Amino acid sequence: MKSGVTKEQLHSLIDEAYAKYKSYNGGKNADYIPYLAKVDSELFGIAACLPDGQIIQVGDCGERFGIESISKVMTAILILKLYGAETILDMIGADATGMPFNSIMAILLEKNHPSTPLVNAGAIAAVSLVQPVGNKELKWKAIVDNMRELCDAPLPLIDELYKSESASNYNNRSIAWLLKHYNRIYDDPELSLDLYTRQCSMGVTARELAICGATIANDGINPVSKKRVFSKALAPKITAMLASVGFYEHTGDWMFTSGLPAKSGVGGGIMGVLPGGFGIATFSPPLDASGNSVKGQKALRYIMQRLDAGIYNSN
Ligand code: GLU
Repeated sequence: MKSGVTKEQLHSLIDEAYAKYKSYNGGKNADYIPYLAKVDSELFGIAACLPDGQIIQVGDCGERFGIESISKVMTAILILKLYGAETILDMIGADATGMPFNSIMAILLEKNHPSTPLVNAGAIAAVSLVQPVGNKELKWKAIVDNMRELCDAPLPLIDELYKSESASNYNNRSIAWLLKHYNRIYDDPELSLDLYTRQCSMGVTARELAICGATIANDGINPVSKKRVFSKALAPKITAMLASVGFYEHTGDWMFTSGLPAKSGVGGGIMGVLPGGFGIATFSPPLDASGNSVKGQKALRYIMQRLDAGIYNSN
């Protein structure tokens, strides 16, 4: 591996991190979406995918959970493919907001200044850009097909989660209409909100997220299917987005302590990308106050600190 990390080294660190944090108690399941509050808090898994497609997994890596915000990375890739990096920078942007994922304040403060597809406002705008604009069914097919190519697996919709989130997403509805007010949404706001809610309600496993992370780490070629999913030139753009806003207002602390560009979701997943190295994912539902999995952060930090191979290292 380019990072100099061997499979054996990574495997034993994953085993160690799993054993060390398995019984750690801290954080709380998201409860603003009723479905998420009911998920078993004890579930815990760590998976990695190497550039040759080998998978390392320990714990509950086959358990399907709500992908939530990690879907934002996948749809960001889709619109980067459709429009190119320059246009997306112009229409949405790549700046961290420094605020919570669902901040309305961030939109008010940056009304003439784009933010990023990795927070709710930018993600709803990203969904609005998926082609063909105005055609809900074909847009949804494009989103789902893209997820399948990235994860090398067809992700199913968790219908109960979709219903639960649709019945409680008033804040996101405000975001969609506020974007309309500022001309920063590019399809019907209700259509875009519904597809955004659906993509967040897809079920994914830690194993599948590790494969998606490895596809980004591997410059757009899925190491399991061996298929090119996106162009090499887009990989550093996606990694830059992860490194600047993947953990919302705590991304700086996260990058400072782990060196691993990663994206969290309120379903308890984290997907990490070590460019030229590997994709790594964790699943554990209890979250900190910003919506990031507590155990997942501890495990990944443990692994990355011992590997000493973060993106800011010179080796
Ligand atoms: N669907 C969630 C929301 O829009 C995603 C949030 C997250 O995972 O950070 O509130």
